[in-house]
Amino acid sequence: MPIAIATVDGGRTSVDESALDQFAASIRGELLKPGDSRYSEKPVYNAMAADRRPALIVRCTGTADVVDAVKFARQHNLLVAVRGGGHSVAGHSTCDNGIVIDLTRMRGVEVDPESRIARVQGGALWGDVDRETQAFGLVVPGGVVSETGVAGLTLGGGEGWVRRKYGLTIDSLLSARVVCADGSVRTASAKSEVDLFWALPRAPRRSFNQIAPYSTGTTYTNFTGQADESAVTLASTAYGANMARLSVIKAKYDPDNFFRLNANISPAATARA
Ligand SMILES: Cc1cc2nc3c(=O)[nH]c(=O)nc-3n(C[C@H](O)[C@H](O)[C@H](O)COP(=O)(O)OP(=O)(O)OC[C@H]3O[C@@H](n4cnc5c(N)ncnc54)[C@H](O)[C@@H]3O)c2cc1C
Repeated sequence: MPIAIATVDGGRTSVDESALDQFAASIRGELLKPGDSRYSEKPVYNAMAADRRPALIVRCTGTADVVDAVKFARQHNLLVAVRGGGHSVAGHSTCDNGIVIDLTRMRGVEVDPESRIARVQGGALWGDVDRETQAFGLVVPGGVVSETGVAGLTLGGGEGWVRRKYGLTIDSLLSARVVCADGSVRTASAKSEVDLFWALPRAPRRSFNQIAPYSTGTTYTNFTGQADESAVTLASTAYGANMARLSVIKAKYDPDNFFRLNANISPAATARA
């Protein structure tokens, strides 16, 4: 029987069981639907998002599964959420009736004590990293809670126990393997896909300086929450010269807002750039 799944543009689509079976057979991980015994082993952190019921959860085991999940979601125009450690306070790592690309089985950490570089999979938690780095007397600046995800925390800037001595987590990020909205896999670093690397963190250190004039001194919300022209004006004012650069990067790597990130750089803003 076909199942109804939410689409990225707010509608619904129906996906045939044969298409689901074919997709499930192509991946090394699991494709879970409501009713399957392992459908929801661990809820996301935010209690307000706890009642969201994805139509599909793809429990990936590696990059190849993530690529196939992105391509499948794209082919059927599905609403997507990506889950790392599941600690998004805003509940961004789940969605209602869409598809969750779940990285909770990708928790590998490999430490090279010679180069003092740790390679970490996209679903690893800080406890996983600490366990492996401590074997060599090393540390990566992370958070203060072992259960938070490495990827989400790093992309948000990341501050933890050793911040006063070693700075933000994002300051230690050397490179990232990125599965883009078209399913291509790129390595972003200071030497390759430089613009993508620059745009990865949602809250790099420089942002704190840039947002200071717009802060009331109490709360700063990254997303303006406005869907009209004023959102573009606000974002342009806040980001200054970076707005044009961010718009070009968005147009290149995620032109139709597949991942629904960089909410202030909307496809509309991209079109105007
Ligand atoms: C109890 C608690 C303690 C915290 N402590 C700290 C702290 O000490 N220091 C600090 O800086 N922050 C802290 N935070 C904030 C935390 O860093 C953010 O909530 C962060 O987004 C959590 O990342 P995650 O991977 O666990 O979350 P998720 O909910 O899995 O993901 C958060 C966001 O990142 C995206 N994402 C996750 N993994 C990937 C990936 N591999 N590839 C692409 N996108 C991905 C998700 O789609 C989502 O948009 C804390 C939060 C909680 C709830």
